[in-house]
Amino acid sequence: ELSKRLQVVADFVPANARLADIGSDHAYLPVALMLQDRIQYAVAGEVVAGPYESAKRQTTSNGLEERIDVRLADGLEAIRPSDEINVVTICGMGGVLIRDILQKGKERNRLSGKERLILQPNVGEKHLRIWLMQEGYQILNETILEENKKIYEVIVAEKRTEAFTYTSQELLFGPILMREKNSVFLKKWRRQLEKHQSVLNDLTQSSREVTDKIHEFQQEAEWIKEVLADGS
Ligand code: SAM
Repeated sequence: ELSKRLQVVADFVPANARLADIGSDHAYLPVALMLQDRIQYAVAGEVVAGPYESAKRQTTSNGLEERIDVRLADGLEAIRPSDEINVVTICGMGGVLIRDILQKGKERNRLSGKERLILQPNVGEKHLRIWLMQEGYQILNETILEENKKIYEVIVAEKRTEAFTYTSQELLFGPILMREKNSVFLKKWRRQLEKHQSVLNDLTQSSREVTDKIHEFQQEAEWIKEVLADGS
């Protein structure tokens, strides 16, 4: 039984996919998809030994070690061309980390550009969308959901030959999410507005203190110059 968050990701995986799940941890996602006979083959990549071991255990205990390769590797280094991967999922990490994994993978020719990317950043979605736009990806779908009081976004993207441009607002809110404006979206951005307002209040207060300090020092500098001039 997948979490609601991973189920949303799973629903975006096309039938018979050859999946690479990067940062797979327990390999819940590839195992669930394989048990439902929804995918053909999967690589579960992990960079940390503990999660790698638990991914191994999870596949073996389900009798799936023939169809899911668990590999200890950094990011997209887990993929080989012969795997013929056509879907990459990277979930449960910060958007900046996901972006860095994709960028490094691209530089090391681990991406053919034909894969569907299904990404679930916990924070920093904007930075991920900026990378996707710069690299010529089109955002095909987006979902926002709440589970255990946390709000998550899922972004589905594919590379296109023509360039796709998004406005600054679309990069921040998500081009699809900002049109849909569902209740979870409104909740997220109401919360974010409160945080922004509180930071702005703090910044305004400290800039006032800086201004006061500048005036005090300017005044005292004048007085010091006068007293020194008198003494010469
Ligand atoms: N993807 C699962 C999910 O969404 O439930 C697990 C998320 S878990 C919070 C993040 C996992 O990513 C950790 O197990 C961590 O070891 C792994 N990870 C972090 N950086 C990685 C990298 N560069 N390459 C592979 N795995 C990475």
